[in-house]
Amino acid sequence: MNVSTERKRVLSGMRSTGKLHLGNYVGALQNWVRMQEQYECFYFIADWHALTTDYADTSKVKQNSVDVLLDWLAAGLDPERCTMFIQSHVPQHAELHLLFSMITPLGWLERVPTYKEQRENIAEKDLSTYGFLGYPVLQAADILIYQGDFVPVGEDQVAHVELTREIARRFNQFYGKTVPVLPEPQALLTRAAKLPGTDGRKMSKSYGNTIMLTDPEPVVRQKLKTMVTDPARIRRSDPGNPDVCPVGDLHKIFSSGETMAKVNEGCRSAGIGCIECKSWAADALVQVLNPMQQRRKKYEDNPRLAWDILEAGSAAASKVADATMAEVRAAMGMSLEYEPPRPFEAAK
Ligand code: SF4
Repeated sequence: MNVSTERKRVLSGMRSTGKLHLGNYVGALQNWVRMQEQYECFYFIADWHALTTDYADTSKVKQNSVDVLLDWLAAGLDPERCTMFIQSHVPQHAELHLLFSMITPLGWLERVPTYKEQRENIAEKDLSTYGFLGYPVLQAADILIYQGDFVPVGEDQVAHVELTREIARRFNQFYGKTVPVLPEPQALLTRAAKLPGTDGRKMSKSYGNTIMLTDPEPVVRQKLKTMVTDPARIRRSDPGNPDVCPVGDLHKIFSSGETMAKVNEGCRSAGIGCIECKSWAADALVQVLNPMQQRRKKYEDNPRLAWDILEAGSAAASKVADATMAEVRAAMGMSLEYEPPRPFEAAK
């Protein structure tokens, strides 16, 4: 476990939604793998966050967390280079969340853009709960408990990091009069490539259009076969445009420059058919997925190994979280240490 204090610290999490898809890989995981070389990274599986929307049935939460971990390891996260753990295994997050909930004004939470949006979009679940409204407070605790320098986010999540910074500032105003207790983290903006699903919409489990990191080669090839293409190419002889074709987007991310040149030329001149073009995209995907699936297999065959990684990760994360909580409690005058009565109190 890397506990270097010289490198800047990065904190990021992923909800425990089960097996991951290529969109998760391109949107976050690929970047996480790069960051573990440069930063001291804490990556957590946010099982409590999963409960904010999926509280009614918790039967899959634990297995989903393990599946996320297996895909992290498959993608190349290395327990020697980063700390991986499950959020609920470090319950200090909950204590800090409770303390933050005392100081966070309701209005800050009600104006979080995703709050209204998700309540309207996920109409089949009752999200008028205390936990759902408060999830940005839990997120602030997740980040600030590690006193992280950076939080890698897409543009749509910058507002969440801003809220975390506001909560840190408010905490410091109340309790850090001489020295700020909680440093304000910076958003590390990551520009993720556009990754469409097989129907051309954003890849998402809820659309049923995913290519999973665990899909075996025949499944990947089959999914590619039915993937939508440039609608202008109705007949084989119609020229197309890879810039408006979801398969073209896959090529841009996963294919070599040489293949991309063949796609560009062949598609625009109707020199190649979509079936051939899709088979090249499938070749490129299989090349990325195969080594991941081999790495994953090692842990599937011996699940205890993966659990050991989580336990070691939780222990390392707990150490840092404990140190922060000691500072937080002391700043609030609520340390766990014995303190002799003050003179005026003794005189009462
Ligand atoms: S040839 Fe390839 S890029 Fe062009 S429309 Fe067909 S699948 Fe899309």
